Amino acid sequence: MIILLDCDDVLAQFTQGVIDVLNRKLGHDFDINDVTDWDMAHSLGVSNNVIFGIAGEEGFCVGLDVMPGAKEGVEKLRQYGEIYVVTSPIHTSRTWQFERTKWLHKHFDIPASRVIQTSAKHLIFGDVFIDDRVSHVTKWLNYQSVEASGYVLDVPWPRSRDESALALYKDNWGDLLNGLEMFTHERSEEGL
Ligand SMILES: [Mg+2]
Repeated sequence: MIILLDCDDVLAQFTQGVIDVLNRKLGHDFDINDVTDWDMAHSLGVSNNVIFGIAGEEGFCVGLDVMPGAKEGVEKLRQYGEIYVVTSPIHTSRTWQFERTKWLHKHFDIPASRVIQTSAKHLIFGDVFIDDRVSHVTKWLNYQSVEASGYVLDVPWPRSRDESALALYKDNWGDLLNGLEMFTHERSEEGL
């Protein structure tokens, strides 16, 4: 089974990392609980250029902290199949893509050959897709076979959910792994 896994706010604390720089270098006083929708620029009233300017700086991506529960979650995920990370690049950064690969190897022992850096996540084939952004999951599902399964791994701060796609949400790694257990059980019953 091929499992496609997002990185930012699933494995790496991207939003917290940006907030830390906004507070430390630009004198803001933001809290992660202020990020109430997926678009953090919109939530915080900061421009996208500022956000991506921070994220694209050398040393930012490689210095991100690991999301709580992600290490243990990925360890358990490995029993279900081969993990590939599918993560959007920042094209305006000279260092982002190199640092992402390095970070994934350092913290999760995921080799560069298992890291796919693209914004066209829906075009990547897999049996399971996990992302914290609901629009990525719904679009991916539209492009895959009916046997594929997609999950929104929700973030541990209060972020609004898409009511029309509630069934896709998993509150945390425990919920996600339970969902996968059911999915693999159903597949084996169907002989897939
Ligand atoms: Mg993400």
